[in-house]
Amino acid sequence: MRISSKLWMPAMAALLAAPQVWAMNIFTCEPEYAALAQELAPEASVFSATSAMQDPHHVQARPSLIAKMRRADLVICAGAELEIGWLPMLQMKANNPDVRDGQPGMFYTASVVDTLGKLDKVDRSMGDVHAGGNPHFHFSPSRMQTIAEAVTAKLVGLDPDNQTQYQQRLADFSQRWQTATAEWERRAAPLKGKKVIAYHSSFQYLFDWLGMEQVGDLEPKPGLPPTTGHLAQLLQQAQTTPLMAVIYTGYQDGRGAQWLGERAGIPVVQLPFGPGVDGAEDLFQLYDTNLNLLLAALGADDV
Ligand SMILES: [Zn+2]
Repeated sequence: MRISSKLWMPAMAALLAAPQVWAMNIFTCEPEYAALAQELAPEASVFSATSAMQDPHHVQARPSLIAKMRRADLVICAGAELEIGWLPMLQMKANNPDVRDGQPGMFYTASVVDTLGKLDKVDRSMGDVHAGGNPHFHFSPSRMQTIAEAVTAKLVGLDPDNQTQYQQRLADFSQRWQTATAEWERRAAPLKGKKVIAYHSSFQYLFDWLGMEQVGDLEPKPGLPPTTGHLAQLLQQAQTTPLMAVIYTGYQDGRGAQWLGERAGIPVVQLPFGPGVDGAEDLFQLYDTNLNLLLAALGADDV
């Protein structure tokens, strides 16, 4: 992932003035944590197992991923069972004792944030649900702040000699993140109360943060693609409820969304799910891009 040179400069200046920081290998399951790791440890070699165009629920434990994990000093994944279908296999095949569950080199971000939609009881009839709550919390600025603090604590734990530098990076990131969050919230005011139909619970935290409401899901059950019957029901709903848009992301099949949007006469919006696509190179640009797309769908893009 390329991070804009602007972001590198303060970190580079700090690096020149201080002792050598350990250029550790950081492996992340999702690109949002690669972008965060790059902010907090710019000298690290950061690798993400998935891109924003890949479904993070389903990943092949390819030899290249196994090799990367074998060399990792720190692994950062969402957890909350998001990667349950592939990460345990990858950890087993990589056979890297530093990044086994419970070791200091293995960090699940869900362990430091609360998740939305935890379920007490799960059975097979419910589909591929996230029993531990929704693990797609990277569009929650406050949770990402908590995660940034926890990642810094991990970095310091692994490389205590450079504690001061990691803490400076965190302070720098936190300041920029809080300023940006206030600005996003100001710009997003017109989105409050808007209703959407979306695909999966992918953007639940974004909607929750901005005061939007997902009133329907293109998936009839989590993990299942839209069916004709389900789409017909959603169309009925769209004809009786004023909706702002139908929303999905790049790795999801957009045909159901297009079908519904065309028939209901509402905008269909594809939002990037992570950094690294559509000009959204880092977390800040990702949030900017999604906000711009939502405001454009509302016809309020000049806010
Ligand atoms: Zn999911």
